Amino acid sequence: MKYNIALIPGDGIGPEVIRETVKVLNTVGETFGHQFEFEEVLVGGCAYDATGHPLPQSSLEVCKRSDAVLLGAVGGNKWDTLPGNLRPEAALLGLREALGLYGNLRPAVLHQALKNACPLKPEIVGGGIDICVVRELIGGIYFGERGRRKDGKMGEEAFDTEAYSVGEVERIGRLAFEMALKRDKKVTSVDKANVLESSRLWRSVMLEVAKDYPEVTLEHMYVDNAAMQLVRNPNQFDVIVTTNMFGDILSDEASMITGSIGMLPSASLGEGSFGLYEPIHGSAPDIAGQDKANPIATILSTAMMLRISFDLEAEAKAIEDAVTSVLEKGYRTIDIMGNEVKIVGTTEMGSLIQEAIKR
Ligand code: NAD
Repeated sequence: MKYNIALIPGDGIGPEVIRETVKVLNTVGETFGHQFEFEEVLVGGCAYDATGHPLPQSSLEVCKRSDAVLLGAVGGNKWDTLPGNLRPEAALLGLREALGLYGNLRPAVLHQALKNACPLKPEIVGGGIDICVVRELIGGIYFGERGRRKDGKMGEEAFDTEAYSVGEVERIGRLAFEMALKRDKKVTSVDKANVLESSRLWRSVMLEVAKDYPEVTLEHMYVDNAAMQLVRNPNQFDVIVTTNMFGDILSDEASMITGSIGMLPSASLGEGSFGLYEPIHGSAPDIAGQDKANPIATILSTAMMLRISFDLEAEAKAIEDAVTSVLEKGYRTIDIMGNEVKIVGTTEMGSLIQEAIKR
């Protein structure tokens, strides 16, 4: 089979981690008999420098006609003083919206070989952590009506609006329940229904969606409690589904308890099999160009791409097993180093994973 992948290396360490990921994907292609065609496009600060806009229309077109998009990271100090709509990060919001990517999947998995990196006590994490946060991505308060008015009760005031429609909640709910079917069949819907009307609608729609998934257990949890439970007893969770803002915060918390930002992949999905895959970390300007970046988060993002967009389960598993075996042999990039491990750079880590797939 042939698959067309739009590649967005982006800024900072983005091109370095994408380079290693392409190496790994090509090895998967050779090993399993697939053809991965890559078309590289400019998005982010590099696109602003070249064209005056962080998300050129031509780049968007390539993404739209691809089977999936693979992104490194965008942003950096150089572009921090640009107006909001021209900043590299604005390109990410534009890309998600233009591609209709309403659901963000962030698995937070603690690898056994890295359990010392987890900031929680061993008796809390037990045999590891394996949670999937499903965050609504193009609705809610980040996209709602906002503004300022001079005649506030105590002077000028600013407002942002949280609004969700039944359809928006239903589609993210279905994504979460479908995920749960492939995992431990439990969905925790996180809201603030004791205070917010939008949360009460969210909760009632989740209850309706649950009727179509009798084999999945649904529980509701207030967001403040969920933040606490994530560090008190993370293993009570399987799939967490929540709004754009709550998901933004909780998915960062969930990733932190697994120890390293350089390890965690993500997928942004819309209708059908199309998706955008990227590591959760940013462009890490402090280590860019030094062969220090951990490429594993991006490599694991492609495993998600193979599984979700291309339905290639064995190939996805081959990548995940290769990562596990390299970690078990003690190889580490600096962000995940502990005592008595073999420190390697970005390129060597990519090559080790590539070799492990061949075996
Ligand atoms: P960051 O994730 O880039 O870096 C935070 C820290 O983690 C840094 O010390 C960095 O060196 C380290 N780190 C990150 N990824 C790593 C990896 N793969 N291997 C080893 N160490 C790694 O976050 P930041 O410093 O807050 O942001 C830097 C830039 O990235 C900003 O311009 C920000 O807007 C942008 N950003 C982009 C994305 C994205 O493209 N999706 C996400 C977050 C931040």
